[in-house]
Amino acid sequence: MYRLDAKDGNARTGTLKTAHGKVKTPFFMPVATKTAVKYLDARDLEEIGIQAIISNAFVLSLRPGIQTIKKAGGINKFMNFHNAIFTDSGGFQKIKDSFYIKSTDKGLHLKSPFDGKKIMLTPKKLMHIQNTLDSDVAMVIDEMPLHSQTKKEVSLAVQRTHKWAEKCIKHHNNKKQLLFGIAQGGLYEDLREKSAKFISSLPFDGYAFGGLAIGEPEKKTYKMINSQVQHFPENKPRYLMGVGSPVQLINAIAAGADCFDSTFPTQNARHNTLFTSKGKLIIKNAGYKNDLKPIDKNCSCYVCKNYSRAHIRHLIKMKEANGLRYATYHNIYFINNLMKQIRKAVKEERFNKFKEDFIKKYK
Ligand SMILES: [Zn+2]
Repeated sequence: MYRLDAKDGNARTGTLKTAHGKVKTPFFMPVATKTAVKYLDARDLEEIGIQAIISNAFVLSLRPGIQTIKKAGGINKFMNFHNAIFTDSGGFQKIKDSFYIKSTDKGLHLKSPFDGKKIMLTPKKLMHIQNTLDSDVAMVIDEMPLHSQTKKEVSLAVQRTHKWAEKCIKHHNNKKQLLFGIAQGGLYEDLREKSAKFISSLPFDGYAFGGLAIGEPEKKTYKMINSQVQHFPENKPRYLMGVGSPVQLINAIAAGADCFDSTFPTQNARHNTLFTSKGKLIIKNAGYKNDLKPIDKNCSCYVCKNYSRAHIRHLIKMKEANGLRYATYHNIYFINNLMKQIRKAVKEERFNKFKEDFIKKYK
């Protein structure tokens, strides 16, 4: 259930009610594919104030298997995380050759990244997996067109996505769990519009822009969001999957998106790139060898309050695991805090000014 609390231009703030508490929008979800955000544990996430994370239903159905998680009492209990958990189907794995074989009307033909075993994921099977995992929000299975595909192929993918969406609703069988639909359409405005209209006509608890932020120019991403956002119901959250960077997030919120997930902050941390209010900081650079300042003096995270750039750089250089842990902790805190500031700015009707100031300083 979603309540829209305030609007400022197209930017919105609201409250999504889940079985594990209220989630204030806009919000960002760290990715916990295998029930862990790399280098952080559930206690870190809760300390940072993370309201929701996303895990991968397909991967969990293979390892450890849904029965193990069911026995534990559901995914929250299994990983001891007390806030909301989304699960995704794995349809976006189409961009990864290590997962994807083909797609037919029946479902996605995937292979296990663990042992290469072939598995068909049908709408019914995916709903059963997610219902059993007992995540707070389940995502439908969709066919994500690739940007290299022709318009005809994209159109067929959209049709298939629509059929699967209807089947998912039919087989969704967990009253505590919310179900989000996904609209597709590649980079074609008319297909995007058609898909948004159709998916919005189905009784989902939220609506996602699928198949974006997978390598297309950023301008196109926002163009596609614009062609769909107006057709999504105002009283439901809108989820832009796979975004992203601080600037992308703020631009997407300006376009009307409420909810995001991406490995961008954690991956950047593991590649020594830290986010600060003045832009990116490459912690491995020699200039930080004797720098006793925190990563970002404007950041009040545990790492910035306790450790210096010099210390974190040293740990990373020495391949001490805590180095990447601190880097990850800070980046996730930074994005989460950015979301918090944005919610406040929208409420106080000064989002545009906030956006301009942030981008100017960050770039
Ligand atoms: Zn920090």
